[in-house]
Amino acid sequence: MFAHNKRLQYTVRVTESNPGLANLMLEQFGGPQGERAAACRYFTQYLAEDDPGRKDMLIDIATEELSHLEVIGTIVAMLNKGAKGRISEGNETEAEMYRKISGGGNDSHVTQLLYGGGPPLTNSGGVPWSAAYIDTIGDPAADLRSNIAAESRAKIIYERLINMTDDPGVKDALTFLMTREISHQQSFEKALYSMQPNFPPGKLAGMPEFTNVYFNMSVGEGDTRGPWNNHGTFEFREAEPAVDGGSGMPEIHMSAEEADAVEQAAIRLHSDPDSDPMTGAMLGMDGGGNAVDGAGAQAAQSTDPMGAKRNAEALKGSGSKAPAPKRSK
Ligand code: MN
Ligand code: MN
Repeated sequence: MFAHNKRLQYTVRVTESNPGLANLMLEQFGGPQGERAAACRYFTQYLAEDDPGRKDMLIDIATEELSHLEVIGTIVAMLNKGAKGRISEGNETEAEMYRKISGGGNDSHVTQLLYGGGPPLTNSGGVPWSAAYIDTIGDPAADLRSNIAAESRAKIIYERLINMTDDPGVKDALTFLMTREISHQQSFEKALYSMQPNFPPGKLAGMPEFTNVYFNMSVGEGDTRGPWNNHGTFEFREAEPAVDGGSGMPEIHMSAEEADAVEQAAIRLHSDPDSDPMTGAMLGMDGGGNAVDGAGAQAAQSTDPMGAKRNAEALKGSGSKAPAPKRSK
């Protein structure tokens, strides 16, 4: 069950109304790295988890993320409070209202006009929250790695938001929220390493002859050796096709019926390498500014494909040095 305590996890003290800043804060309310995404990510993982330790950790952190959602949502609501009053009471001139909503780099018209100053479940650009932000796959070694990355991204967004405000109360609350993501990242890392083995994720081993190979697939200036491809861990190999020792050409065995259908389709869709078809581009080239004489323009105007083709060929012969189409048998 959930029970609610009316006091916030961290005290929110906002110095003054700032609807533009409120909009930026929405990134951590309804954005991909935001608190709602975090809470839903860990809550759904908790529901499916069977390991008692991980299950407990996931619901603790999911519930904390909901508390963060409440903190960041409260910051948004506080920053919008003045504007919300103004827009609902309408006791300023239209021009004054418009200036406050859209002036001075303040692009809060979406939250002001559409949401009346309340925190919508959108990101800072007004894009609605999506369950697609959550990439849970149902394997703890894969999900914990993704959770670690999600906490890292959340930390970075908080850092950017902190750098964008000089409101000391907002800065303080954001710094707390950022700090908690560092703590969560540590818990997820510890939980990952407490499970041995945890690499690679899943149960099946990789092919031993390729598990520790580094293929130098991009060749040229900038080729660099480092721990990510050094001997000791990796066998460093130059790019080559058919590393399995086979032909590198795809093969499939089909039933006679399937093979017949595939062949029929191939015959029907066969391209003729000896053809030289007229194209819309040739017609356009012929009738436009490139026309060398009246006949060309006339042919294009009459939309006579053969006339246009004759003219295009005349152009080729006289003006351009386009090579004759190559014929192959
Ligand atoms: Mn959080
Ligand atoms: Mn977190």
